[in-house]
Amino acid sequence: MINEEKESILDNEISELIIPAHKVAIVQIGNSLEHALLVLIKSGYSAIPVLDHDYKLRGLISTTIIMDSILGLEKIEYEKLGEHKVEEIMMTKVARINENGIFFRALELSINHPFLCVENEEGVFVGLLTRKSILAVIHRHLKN
Ligand code: AMP
Repeated sequence: MINEEKESILDNEISELIIPAHKVAIVQIGNSLEHALLVLIKSGYSAIPVLDHDYKLRGLISTTIIMDSILGLEKIEYEKLGEHKVEEIMMTKVARINENGIFFRALELSINHPFLCVENEEGVFVGLLTRKSILAVIHRHLKN
């Protein structure tokens, strides 16, 4: 019985846990580092997705990467914020999962990533799945 229940949780689709794209703070290819920093600071998130103009996922940008890119030898070179684009420094290795993916795969990926980017069959970004929401599901099931 317990095993059956465990399997059904792990095989569940992730769809119910997805934060939809319209609620996700994003930046787009071509945006300046200055714009990205504003979005990061205003949203309060440390890393957010970078999408292209077809809404496909191209990378992630974080406050740390931006700040690191403007550190000079003796000072912070703030002028660089307006001179460079997000695609020049973004991380291109992104943890992704298909919107029809199963919970077990999300759980596996979330070991090393605080959030996963969710895509549809065409590679269009549909939202995010956070480690927090995955842990909350496991906690609920263990408690019951
Ligand atoms: P949380 O578990 O809610 O703290 O989210 C973990 C990480 O997922 C955050 O630090 C962000 O990088 C990302 N994240 C969560 N929700 C959003 C959102 N609505 N927009 C952009 N990024 C998000």
